[in-house]
Amino acid sequence: MLQDEIRRRLDAGNARWQSLEGEMAERRRHGAEKGQRPYAIVVACSDSRVIPEQIFDASLGELFVIRVAGNVLDKHQLGSIEYAAGHLHSRMILVLGHTGCGAVGAALSGGGDGFIQYITDEVLRAVGQERDPLRACEKNVAHAVELLRKEFGEHPEIPSAELDICGAVYDIASGAVRWLDI
Ligand SMILES: [Zn+2]
Repeated sequence: MLQDEIRRRLDAGNARWQSLEGEMAERRRHGAEKGQRPYAIVVACSDSRVIPEQIFDASLGELFVIRVAGNVLDKHQLGSIEYAAGHLHSRMILVLGHTGCGAVGAALSGGGDGFIQYITDEVLRAVGQERDPLRACEKNVAHAVELLRKEFGEHPEIPSAELDICGAVYDIASGAVRWLDI
C-alpha cells in the first residue's frame, strides 16, 4: 500500500468514526464530559490480531489497555497500570497473552536484535528452559502476573484486596479467551 493510500484509508476511517451517531456518539460525548472509569486494565500484545476492546466486546471508557509486543512489563507500563488502578479505580489487571505470538516465537528462536532484544530478553527471563510456544506463552503471562502481584500487592493507594490480578491466553483462531490458574 502506498503512503498516500494509507493516509486516505486512515482519514476515511476517522471520518466514519466521527459520523457515527446513536450510542457511540453518546458514549464519546459522555466520556469527554465526565471522564473515564474503566473497570479493567488489560495488558496485551501489540499484535494487530489482538484487540482487547473487540475481543471482550467492550466500548469506549470500559478498558484501560496497555499494548506492547509480547505483553511484557517495564516501568512505563507499570506507571500506566498504577495510574489506572490508583486513580481511575480499575479493579482488575488482566495480562492477556495470545497464540502465535511473534515476540514469544522470536525469543524461543534465540532472541531479537536492536530494541527488539529488550522484549525477547524479558520473554526469555519469563520462560526459562520452556521451548513449547503455548506453554512459553503461558509462562510469559504468569511472569507478568507475578510481577504485578509483587508491585501492587501492598500499595498505599491501591486496595489490594479489591484488585484481581490475573492472566489469560487468547486463541487468535477461535477467538476464545482461556483464563489461567496462576
Ligand atoms: Zn504477540
